[in-house]
Amino acid sequence: MFSNKLLAIFISLFLTHQAWSNTMHSVQIDLKKKSDRDKVANIIHLDQIIGDKGYAVVNEHDLMQLKKVFPAKILNIKKLDFTQGETIQTENFEFPKGDEAFHTYQEVVDTLNEYERKYPNLATVFEFGKSVEGRSIPAIKITGVKKVNKDQFIPAILFTGSHHAREHLSTEIPMLLIKHILDNYSSTPEIKKLIDSREIYFVPMLNTDGAMYDIAGRKYKMWRKNRTKNDSRTYGVDLNRNYSFGWGTGGSSRSPNSDVYMGPKPFSEPETQAVKKFVEDNANIRVLLSFHTFSELILYPWGGKNTGIGGEDQRVFEKMAQTMSGWNKYKPMQASGLYIASGDTCDWAYGEHGIYCFTFELSPKSMWSGGFYPGAKIIDKVFRANVKPALYLIDKAADPKGVLRQ
Ligand SMILES: [Zn+2]
Repeated sequence: MFSNKLLAIFISLFLTHQAWSNTMHSVQIDLKKKSDRDKVANIIHLDQIIGDKGYAVVNEHDLMQLKKVFPAKILNIKKLDFTQGETIQTENFEFPKGDEAFHTYQEVVDTLNEYERKYPNLATVFEFGKSVEGRSIPAIKITGVKKVNKDQFIPAILFTGSHHAREHLSTEIPMLLIKHILDNYSSTPEIKKLIDSREIYFVPMLNTDGAMYDIAGRKYKMWRKNRTKNDSRTYGVDLNRNYSFGWGTGGSSRSPNSDVYMGPKPFSEPETQAVKKFVEDNANIRVLLSFHTFSELILYPWGGKNTGIGGEDQRVFEKMAQTMSGWNKYKPMQASGLYIASGDTCDWAYGEHGIYCFTFELSPKSMWSGGFYPGAKIIDKVFRANVKPALYLIDKAADPKGVLRQ
């Protein structure tokens, strides 16, 4: 009796320990064929593809799944110093030493409020939605339009950052864009003209919970998903696999422990629900730019299938992507060119709403130049590379198809 009880205690200790201790591994995978990349993308997130090798950082669960499907292809596994665990209850978040220039959730909120105070005629802060842990997701609307009647059509654009927790740079770029267009409104006629004729929306940190969890204890955790509690042992849904269009049709996982977990149903998460509701409520949004990191790519639909969207819109996407690539030097391509990923923002935005939606995979170019954690020193350079593409998209929101006539 006693030993059985002891055994039960040991087992429960082991399970508890397993649930909270989740070491990450760096893997290199031999991927000679595109179909292999698509298969791998059903299990893990491929951080990088170079030639016929794929690279990823995976948790123990995903590594096990990967080994089951690709035993012969895993070339190199290294244990990393990123440990994921239980949600940390604190509001005093700060980035790891040296990276304090990145905005914490509270700093995003405070900074946006400051802009609203400084530019009351141009900027309006509002709640975009609520996160799983109850945080108010901050957003800002920038416009100089004085509507003459409420039905007047004003072209609009939406910028989002940090769908993925560890992609902190994708919050910094929209934060700096907000500052740039507001600070230069009165001195730069080009910017004044845009603000005075558009509605420009920014949601710099959509996945507030995940982003803060990733820095809790001032230690990066390589966290990607949001912080939904799936069951007693696993957290998080991959928000960029949770949109409805083509949901669950490849490049995402049904396993709650996977880093590319699609969620129990489309739009199961409050964060993606917030995007859905906002886009449905604002039919004037013609262009959407979703910032991610990393790889230096400009991606357009489809992500969920290998065929192109075809027709005139295909040429619109290609033309816009090529033009922007001339400024930031990122590589333009159809999203599924890397590997299939279904349920992402842009397939839904374009597929459901006809919105010209791009995903920027910001710098750095590779995991060897910093990957998800390139350091604060990179922020300004990446911002400067992306000012022109952002202004271009704001401009084109009035008439995206017009790019074909230029
Ligand atoms: Zn991402």
